[in-house]
Amino acid sequence: MSPHQLPVVIVGAGPVGLAAAAHLIERGIEPLVLESGPTAGTAVREWGHVRLFSTWAEVVDPVAEKLLAPAGWSVPAPQTYPSGSDWAEQYLQPLADVLGEKVRYGHTVTGVSRRGRDRVVDAEREEQPFVVHVQRGDGDRERFLARAVIDASGTWSTPGPAGGSGLPALGEDVASERISYRVPDLARPEVRARYAGRRTAVIGSGASAFTALAMLADLAQSPEGHGTHAVWVLRRGMSDSTFGGGTADQLPARGALGLAAKSAVDSGHAEPVTGFRVEAVERGSGGHLVLVGEDGRRVGPVDEAVVLTGFRPDVSFLEEVRLRLDERLQAPTELAPLIDPNQHSCGTVYPHGHRELSHPEQGLFLAGMKSYGRAPTFLALTGYEQVRSIAAALAGDLASADRVELVLPETGVCGGAGLFDTVETDHGAGECCTGPESGASGATAREAGVAPDSAPGAEQSGGCCGS
Ligand SMILES: Cc1cc2nc3c(=O)[nH]c(=O)nc-3n(C[C@H](O)[C@H](O)[C@H](O)COP(=O)(O)OP(=O)(O)OC[C@H]3O[C@@H](n4cnc5c(N)ncnc54)[C@H](O)[C@@H]3O)c2cc1C
Repeated sequence: MSPHQLPVVIVGAGPVGLAAAAHLIERGIEPLVLESGPTAGTAVREWGHVRLFSTWAEVVDPVAEKLLAPAGWSVPAPQTYPSGSDWAEQYLQPLADVLGEKVRYGHTVTGVSRRGRDRVVDAEREEQPFVVHVQRGDGDRERFLARAVIDASGTWSTPGPAGGSGLPALGEDVASERISYRVPDLARPEVRARYAGRRTAVIGSGASAFTALAMLADLAQSPEGHGTHAVWVLRRGMSDSTFGGGTADQLPARGALGLAAKSAVDSGHAEPVTGFRVEAVERGSGGHLVLVGEDGRRVGPVDEAVVLTGFRPDVSFLEEVRLRLDERLQAPTELAPLIDPNQHSCGTVYPHGHRELSHPEQGLFLAGMKSYGRAPTFLALTGYEQVRSIAAALAGDLASADRVELVLPETGVCGGAGLFDTVETDHGAGECCTGPESGASGATAREAGVAPDSAPGAEQSGGCCGS
């Protein structure tokens, strides 16, 4: 069988992987989606209790919507905000159901290579199909051949550690039963009981940290929450932009997250500790945690720690293919300069397509959250545009593939770039920096996303990128 008759394998049935399948179908190309979990949107369901800062209209791919229409589906109340669970149950699962056999659950991709060619071999490499190794939920292993591979496996399963160096802090593993790397679901009684009346260190400065601080402040004000207190550990200093763009954010719900966190601080429910990079986590009497900073300062004792320091991509199953990743962000090299918070502040991220997402291994693409590596500004809309362009390129329609038309919302804050933890680099909330006039794809729109979480790199910028 010629490679062109083989399906395009998509790793992950998240929002971007499923959108990729829809775009390929529209182009007459057969997709095969391999998903490790038991459902569509397995990762999204794990943060199902968190409300998105994007409306329904902003998180549904237009081509997926077309595919769903014959089943009587339409975008639920487009201007309202879904939770992660709503997104998964009311959109991702119906979409996967329409795709039917093209989505395989319980299929964890463990390796990607070229048939008969390891990473080193050049000879006739590009004529060989991809081989994709899978560990199935029933314990069996399976191998698929593919004409191309779109890795949309996200970064959810690899959160950053508490340690300020990017490595786990000393003792972080030993204290694991008191550390969570997710925004706690305080609607669940057992989780509520874990944090009610307790002192919790929240480490991180992105939208997830804002959400956790606001939720803990709500808990503190509830009848059973007396004594609940958060210590907010930030690696950077406080500035006007610490809380994001507020009312100047073009995504109002995203701006509101920062305002809710500010209110938690102003009301005394959360106490910020700035410029603090965790070196060690010590256990005190009664199992309490004490965070030790690289400068010797100590924070605590606290009962719990919630670590929300961003995510990093897992590229371990891509060892036998030739990737070109930026050394800082672990994002494709062409894309990285467009999203690197060390180089840019809030506004200078452009929509991009197949060219920025390509690698020396032709036919292999990282898309979605994973394509951003450690950069914190990813939005679903960006991913939908990525896979539209990739599908067009795979169909040979380069004119369409190169045309990037997306306009993304701005955060409404802006900061200087590149300096480490210096508050002076901030230019104040409400401003927005001017980026280059056009992106690598010739697009003129800018993306500015407050992070779902902050990556360490983001915290090195003095601006809004993920902080
Ligand atoms: C708390 C939170 C809130 C967010 N809010 C917004 C928002 O309001 N607006 C917005 O635009 N964006 C938001 N984002 C960012 C982004 O849009 C989402 O993270 C989105 O889910 C990314 O989609 P994805 O398809 O790239 O990855 P994911 O949703 O992570 O999907 C990846 C899928 O791949 C599967 N997988 C992983 N590894 C393998 C493997 N080896 N083999 C097979 N399958 C695998 C996973 O199980 C998962 O189902 C938010 C992110 C978070 C974490």
